[in-house]
Formats: sequence, structure tokens, C-alpha cells
Amino acid sequence: MAKEKKLVESITSMSEDFAQWYTDVVKKAELVEYSNVKGCMIIRPNGYAIWENIQKELDRRFKETGVENVYMPMFIPESLLQKEKDHVEGFAPEVAWVTQGGLETLQERLCVRPTSETLFCDFYSRIIQSHRDLPKLYNQWCSVVRWEKTTRPFLRSAEFLWQEGHTAHATEEEAEARTIQMLNIYADFCEEVLAIPVVKGKKTDKEKFAGAQSTYTIEALMHDGKALQSGTSHNFGDGFAKAFGIQYSDNQNQLQYVHQTSWGMSTRIIGALIMVHGDDSGLKLPPRIAPVQAMVIPISQRKEGVMEKAAELRDVLGAAGIRAKLDGSDKSPGWKFSEQEMRGIPIRVEIGPKDMEQNQAVIVRRDNREKIVVSLDELGEKANEILESIQQDMLARAKAHLESHTYEAHTYEEFKDIVANKPGFVKMMWCGDEACEMKIKEDTTATSRCMPFEQEQLGDVCPVCGRPAKKLVYWGKAY
Ligand SMILES: [Zn+2]
Repeated sequence: MAKEKKLVESITSMSEDFAQWYTDVVKKAELVEYSNVKGCMIIRPNGYAIWENIQKELDRRFKETGVENVYMPMFIPESLLQKEKDHVEGFAPEVAWVTQGGLETLQERLCVRPTSETLFCDFYSRIIQSHRDLPKLYNQWCSVVRWEKTTRPFLRSAEFLWQEGHTAHATEEEAEARTIQMLNIYADFCEEVLAIPVVKGKKTDKEKFAGAQSTYTIEALMHDGKALQSGTSHNFGDGFAKAFGIQYSDNQNQLQYVHQTSWGMSTRIIGALIMVHGDDSGLKLPPRIAPVQAMVIPISQRKEGVMEKAAELRDVLGAAGIRAKLDGSDKSPGWKFSEQEMRGIPIRVEIGPKDMEQNQAVIVRRDNREKIVVSLDELGEKANEILESIQQDMLARAKAHLESHTYEAHTYEEFKDIVANKPGFVKMMWCGDEACEMKIKEDTTATSRCMPFEQEQLGDVCPVCGRPAKKLVYWGKAY
């Protein structure tokens, strides 16, 4: 028992210190290890397997819409980065530079990609000539580098993994439709697979991507009431096309600029998974993303036939399409339970001599700890039903949390009071002036998260300045 207590005791409770709880879970669930380079992380098998499932699921959804994968170089010549003014200004402060190759000083510095718009634009300027070459729907899975000063595993690191989609279209309408289509893919993926409900909307000009005409975002609410921008989709209009000379001849043989989009989701989303669903026993993974969905744990495993039966159950679960493993190590069952809970494995299946006598097993749900006795004759079927029910319940719980932590403010005093005392999203009207956005940030540290697609009319004026209101905005403190 002493050992078993240790594993759980070593995580700080969420209510005591949420930031420390997060760090503890990331370490104890063996998702990440710190590396020799400050701000870079080693993603361990438990963490990487989650990323692989995210990749698989997103990649399939992208390809269903005609997207193809490519790979671009990781270096960007300085002259190329300089071509779009807003873009370079946005990224310059956090770019890492290569100045030497082997023993020689480079004639032109190369930056390690912080994002690859400039590379794709350069590429598109060479391969797009005619309207027949459009659209181009490319995506790449890669890592990018942003020299961040303060870093946290998954949430902010100097190097992180992501996908970046870059498309080129003949018309503005097509580019806008693609921008929204990809945002919807992210939102659906979050809800259906990660059980994370999101708010979809448009970023204000202040918060939009460097060089974009408009940026759309999905915003999720973490357990502590802070927001996490979880995926973004940008419409570039023809700004990049003009800077890079990406033109095509239309069917009248007239030269036109293309309209472009880009969209990305990163390993940051694993941070969201941890902070939306986790509890004081560790990680809680929704079944659809969990690398291991069921852990079979034998009780009194030295007794005759127990290990064999446990292995048989693992195979039965596998045959039913469930990602199942058997913990046949010599650790005590209690220790194994704690490990399974810490890693967020959605169900464990306990089997011991008494269960065998009665042709049954005990399934324990990670999300609510409910114990369900199941006949071995219908183990696969029941386990699948339970996993599906966990998936739905986790989404419902996250939705209830989002709803109960979304507030409305009608006056600026009310707004400040909510931000100070009730962590969550605050809905408030806004005049559209950046000055009010800046004032809110200075006064409260809350930022505009998005102007939601589902607009409401909470009043006629901007509570900050009293001028006519133009948009409803979701505000909140954010990661
Ligand atoms: Zn205002």
C-alpha cells in the first residue's frame, strides 16, 4: 500500500495549484520529459501515441476534402521571410537563425521555420501558371521553432509538432469557403474525437495572424476557466500572392492573383486534452483518442489459470476492435490501478479466480469509477458499449462546464468583477475599436478570444466606451 499511495500522493491536487497539477500529470503519466535544450520537450511513447492518433484522425478528415501532403525544407532564407511585411514583423522576435554551415559563415542567414507561409508562397509562385493548376490543397506535418521565453510542455515550447495546411484558389469566395471548411473540421474533430466542445468565431484584427486578412479560431475552456486557442484557420486574401507574385492566367487569358488560406493544429491540443478532462488521479482520455482503451489487470495472478484467462480477455477485446493491453507485470493490482488511472486509460478490466468461477469480469470506468460486472460471454460487446458511453459522458461534462463557466456582462464594472472572481468566458458587446480591447487587457489581463459565429445582442453600446456596439465578443484569460 505504501508504494501505491506514493504514485497518487505525488500529484498536487487541481484545486490547490492547477499549474503544478498540470506539470505533475505530464510527468507522472509519462507524456513528456524535459530535454537538454531549454524550452524543448521529449515526447515519450504515452504522449506520442496520442499525437499519432490525432494525426491519423485529422489526416483522414483533411484528405476526404482533397488535401494532399507535402514536405517543405525547414530553413527559410532571410530574403524570403522579408517579403511580406506584416508576416515578418509578427514572427521576427521569436525566430531562430542559422548563420553558419559547417565551418563557413553563410552569405545569407537562414531562419528555422516558425511557420511555412513564405516557403509555400515561393513554391506556388513557381508551380501555378494557369487556372488549370488551381486549387492547390497542400498540407505538411512537421515541427516548427519559435524561440519562446517562457515555456510549458505542450502549451508553449520552443519546438513543437503540428500540421500546416496551405491552399491556393482562383477566387476570394473559394478561399473563404475553404477557410471555414477547415475550421469546421477542427471543431468537429475536437467534439467528436477529443470530447472538447469549442466556441467557433473570428479573431479581432488585433489578434489575427501576421499577414492574414482574417483569422478564424476555435476556443476551448480548460478546467481552471482559462481559454485555449485550439486551432486556427486564416484567409490571406491576395496579400501574400501580391508579395510573392503568385499569378495564374484565367480562362480569358488574363493574369490574376491567387487567394490563399492556411490552417494549423499543434501538439498544444494535447494540453487541452489534459486540462479539459483530467482530475486529481491524473489524465482522463476520451476512448476515441486513447492509445490504450482497455487495460486488463489480473487479480491474484499467480493463481492457476488467471494469467491465461487475462490474456484471453485481452484478445477477446482486441477482436472486438478495442485497443487493449494486459498488465502482467509483478506490481500489485492496486499499483496497476493507479497507473492505469494516471495514464487516463478509459476502462480497466479486472479478472481474478472468483470472477472466473462466475464467468465474469469487472469493468471499471476511468471517468466516474463506476464498476460494472460483465459476463464473459458478452465482454467485447459490453466493453464497446461502455467506451461509447464514456465518450458521450465526457463530452456532456465538458459541455456543462463550458456552459456553466460562460458569463454575460452588461456593464464594464460587471465585466471586471466576473474576470476577477469567476474564471471562464465572458460575453460582452464591443464597439470594434482596438483601444477598448487594449484597455480591457490592461485592466484585467483578459483578451478577446473571438467574435463568435453565433452572435447575440446583449446591448446597444460598448460598455467600455459607450459608443455603439458592433459585435459580441468572447473575452477571457488565456493560455
Ligand atoms: Zn468601445
